[in-house]
Amino acid sequence: FPPERVRNFSIIAHIDHGKSTLADRLLEITGTIPTPSSAPGSSGRNQQVLDKLKVERERGITVKAQTASMLHKFGGKWYLLNLIDTPGHVDFAYEVSRSLAASQGSLLLVDASQGVQAQTVANYHLAKANNLTIIPVLNKIDLPGADPDSVEDSVRMVLEIAEDMEIPRISAKKGEGVEALLDLIIEKLPAPTSKLTSSFRSLLFDNWYDTYVGVVCLVAVIDGKVGKGDKIASAGTGLKYEVSQVGIMAPDPMPLLALHAGQVGYLILGMKSSHEARVGDTFYHHGQDVDVLPGFQPAKSMLFAGVYPVDSTEFEKLSEAINRLTLNDSSVSVARETSAALGQGFRLGFLGTLHMDVFRQRLEEEYGATAILSSPVVPYKIIRKGGSEQIINNPAAFPDHSERANVDDIQEPMVRATLIFPEEYLGEMMQLCGDHRGEQEDYTYLDDTRIIMKYRLPMGEILTDFYDELKSLSSGYATFDYDDIGYQSSDLVRMNVLLNSKPVDVLSSVLHRSQAERASKIITKRLKDVIDRQLFEVVIQAEVAGKIIARETVSALRKNVTAKCYGGDITRKMKLLEKQKEGKKKMRAIGNVKLSQEAFLSIVKK
Ligand code: GDP
Ligand code: MG
Repeated sequence: FPPERVRNFSIIAHIDHGKSTLADRLLEITGTIPTPSSAPGSSGRNQQVLDKLKVERERGITVKAQTASMLHKFGGKWYLLNLIDTPGHVDFAYEVSRSLAASQGSLLLVDASQGVQAQTVANYHLAKANNLTIIPVLNKIDLPGADPDSVEDSVRMVLEIAEDMEIPRISAKKGEGVEALLDLIIEKLPAPTSKLTSSFRSLLFDNWYDTYVGVVCLVAVIDGKVGKGDKIASAGTGLKYEVSQVGIMAPDPMPLLALHAGQVGYLILGMKSSHEARVGDTFYHHGQDVDVLPGFQPAKSMLFAGVYPVDSTEFEKLSEAINRLTLNDSSVSVARETSAALGQGFRLGFLGTLHMDVFRQRLEEEYGATAILSSPVVPYKIIRKGGSEQIINNPAAFPDHSERANVDDIQEPMVRATLIFPEEYLGEMMQLCGDHRGEQEDYTYLDDTRIIMKYRLPMGEILTDFYDELKSLSSGYATFDYDDIGYQSSDLVRMNVLLNSKPVDVLSSVLHRSQAERASKIITKRLKDVIDRQLFEVVIQAEVAGKIIARETVSALRKNVTAKCYGGDITRKMKLLEKQKEGKKKMRAIGNVKLSQEAFLSIVKK
C-alpha cells in the first residue's frame, strides 16, 4: 500500500460515548473480525475486542490504546486503514496523545443523548494541537433520548466546526451509518505524507511485553520500509537490533514481510527489557544518517503513593509484580522507600487516581500481589534559602516546623479545571470549587441549558473526593477535565500523628494551614475508634508547626477484668479464646502501642 492509500486515524471521545463499540463495528464491517451473529455460540454484539485487559472488560473502560488494521474498498481501490482506539478518561490523556502522534485524523464521537462533555472538549483540543483533521460524529442516534439536532448545534459552536463540514450521524451499536463512515474516512482524512523512497525512519509510540515473543514495539513508519532481518538502531539508546518479525495488528499480530512508509505496525527486535523501548524513540537503518523525530514529553506523575505488602514477608513478591507490571505501563514511576511502621516498600507515581486504582487492581488480579496503598499526595516544590529547588513526593520528607527557617517558599501543583453541567447546578458547582480552594476564571453558556466553567484549583484538592462530590451534587450530570498549569506558592503545613509521643510516619500528611484543625480532629477521632484498649493509656495527638492541635486518649484496661469470673478453669478457657482471637487478628506495633492490622490499614488508606 503506497502512502496515498493508507489512512491512520484514532477515535477520541468522552468516556462511554462509544469508541470501543465503534471500533468493533468497523472491524466487523471490513471483515477483519467475524460478526458475532455468524460466529457460533456468540450472544451479544458488544465484543470490545480491543479492550484486552481484564480490568478493561470488568470496568468497561479502555485503559490502554490499541491498534487494528483493516482493509476497505473505495472507488474501486483497496485502502489500508489503521485504527487506534484510545482511552477516554483524563488520567490516560498520555495514551491519547501518543496515539494522536501516530495518526493524521480523528473521529471525535459525541453521544447524541449526552451532548458535548468535558473530555469531548479536552480531546478536541489535543487533536487540534497535533494538527489532526477531525471528523465529528454523532453516535447513539438509536436512543430514544437522542437529540442530534441540538447536539449538532453545540458541537458546531464549541468545537468551531466549519459550516460546510458534514457531521455524520451513526449508531455504533446497531451499525447504522458505519459503512458510510468508512468512505468518509478515506475521503476526508489526509494520507500520511511519508516517502517510500527515503531511508527508513519510524516513530515508536507504544510497546508491551508478550510472554512468548518478548517486547513488542508499535511503530508508525514515517519513511522508507523495514523488513524482517533488517539491521536497525535506536536513536534514543544507541542500541542495535536485527528485526526478527514485522507485522500489523489485525487486531491480533499478523506477520508480514515488510512495513512501508505510512503504515502502523509492530516490530519484534529481541529486546531484553521493555525499558529499551522508549516511547517517542526513532528507529532507523543502522549505518544511515537520520533526522531524529520530535518524540514526546515523558509522562509526568501527578500523584504519588507509598505501596507496601500487606504481609511484610511478601515484599519480594510485590517487588516482582510491580516490576512486571511497569514493563507494560512505563507511565508509572517507581522508587524504593522504607517506613518505620510498614517496613520495606515503594513510592509509585501515577497519572491520576483512576490510573492508581487500575494499577492496584492489576497488581492483585494479574499478579496476585495484595498491597497497601497510602493515601495519595501531589508533588510539592520546596525552594530553599539560596535558591535550590526540590520536589517532594512523600509527606514524611516535607519540611517540618524545625526545618522551616531554611525554606524560602513552598509551592503546590495547580490545574485549570473545565466543568460542564446543567445551569441549575451553578450554585453547587461554585460552592464545590470554592470549598476546594478554587478561583473562578470564567463561565459561559455552552448551549441553551448548560454551562461551561473554568476554575484554577490545587491539584491536591481534586485527588480524593472531588470527583464523587461533583457527581453527587449534580445528580451525575456534571463532567470535568483538567490541565496541569504548573506550581503556585501556598501556605502548606505538615501534620504529624503521634501515638504515645511517637510519630507514625505513614500517617503524616501535607495540608493547607486553613484545613489543619479540622483534619487533625478527624484523624485523632478515627484512630481512637480503632485502637483497642491496652494495659496502659494511649495518647493520640496531631501536631502542626510544633504545636499539638488535637488530642484523644484511649484509657487503660483495668487489670482485673476477668477477676469476677468463676473458676480457674473458665478463666483459662477465656484466656485461650483471647489468645486465639489475637492470633487471627494480626497486630502492628507502633512504639509500645498495638493496633490490629486491619484497623491500621483503614487509617493509612484514608
Ligand atoms: P467508550 O468508553 O467510548 O469506549 O464507550 P463504549 O464503546 O464502551 O460504549 C459505552 C456504552 O455505550 C456501552 O454500553 C455501549 O453498548 C453503548 N453504546 C455505544 N454505542 C452505542 C449506540 O450507538 N447506541 C446505543 N444505544 N448504545 C451505544
Ligand atoms: Mg472504550
